[in-house]
Amino acid sequence: MLTLTASARFLRTIKPQRFLASLPHVVEHDGTRAERSLILLKPDAVERRLVGRILSRFEDRGLAIVALRQRMCDRALAEAHYHEHRDKHFFGRACAFLCAGPLVSACLEGRGAVAAARGLVGPTDPKDAPPGTIRGDLATHWRRNLVHASASAEDAEREIGLWFESTDLCPPPSALDPWLYEVPGARIGFDDDDGDEGIS
Ligand code: ADP
Ligand code: MG
Repeated sequence: MLTLTASARFLRTIKPQRFLASLPHVVEHDGTRAERSLILLKPDAVERRLVGRILSRFEDRGLAIVALRQRMCDRALAEAHYHEHRDKHFFGRACAFLCAGPLVSACLEGRGAVAAARGLVGPTDPKDAPPGTIRGDLATHWRRNLVHASASAEDAEREIGLWFESTDLCPPPSALDPWLYEVPGARIGFDDDDGDEGIS
């Protein structure tokens, strides 16, 4: 039987591992590479009944939802999520806000998903966010800015691992791919174009 001290020691060894797993942000389907990004619809988005409208903006852009969950966030998860800000003056407040009510975590997938999602979300302070962005259209204050989106590929990898298990991540629907990307076998292709290697 484990003594209290021994089990406490055991818990200390396993607990941090909850936050150590990372999941790949780049995935390959049929030879094409897609990125994944972690999105949070923070408690203000849920309380304001904006979940459907915000998610549809990502879907409209062509990003696929490959994992989705409404949940409560505890302090440890919030602190792990905002780890990069641990020394900033707003760290405690930003963590408290994530725990203020139900939030929705989503993993989005698509080519260039990290940049596309950040672009849709807009700058941190909604007053700097242009119309057409989620924050520019729906938010007014930087502490009530509705959404989190991974800032970089490295962040995406770490954050997806924080919020999801690998079995939560589903294969994305692919029927629209030929209309979103230049994939092999698309009815309309640009295979014969010259000098069109600039962007993919
Ligand atoms: P973003 O969400 O745009 O990636 P940051 O990573 O810089 O922004 O900050 C994380 C979150 O912390 C922000 O979305 C915002 O809600 C909150 N935050 C940022 N700066 C401040 C600040 N100066 N005071 C209070 N809260 C802040
Ligand atoms: Mg950030």
